[in-house]
Amino acid sequence: MAERTTYDSNNIFAKILRGEIPSHRVYEDDAVVAFMDVMPQGPGHTLVVPKAPSRNLLDADPAVFGPLFANVQKLARAVKKAFDADGVTVMQFNEPASGQTVFHLHVHIIPRFEGIPLKPHSGQMEKPEVLAENAGKIRKALGS
Ligand code: AMP
Repeated sequence: MAERTTYDSNNIFAKILRGEIPSHRVYEDDAVVAFMDVMPQGPGHTLVVPKAPSRNLLDADPAVFGPLFANVQKLARAVKKAFDADGVTVMQFNEPASGQTVFHLHVHIIPRFEGIPLKPHSGQMEKPEVLAENAGKIRKALGS
């Protein structure tokens, strides 16, 4: 199935990376952009997206993973601090059967609290003002 192995440069994260559609950005460097998930599975749900194009982990250049996961660690520490979380869930999906819905490699970072389950994946849209406030908290934690 060709459509399942081809990178589509018009996917929504590629458009966010190019600045064609808005996002609540918390971090950017040469390798990645991090921004708030618009349908968070919990407060502070953040996505870390490598700038290099690939559908997911399966077709990515292995050179992407060093800078990507160094940034995942940096963002995971920052979201834990920003939301005073008990833990952090890090998730990454590959192809529709796994739950992937946006076909540009990305890693989910979700603050976790004892006894509180995750909300559904790609569930309800969060209010822009809440996303903006949460992004501010993470930027502050990154800077401190
Ligand atoms: P996945 O299922 O791993 O491909 O996750 C894609 C994630 O992107 C989901 O958690 C969606 O809520 C999220 N998402 C979809 N569109 C946007 C967008 N425009 N900005 C931020 N997050 C998005």
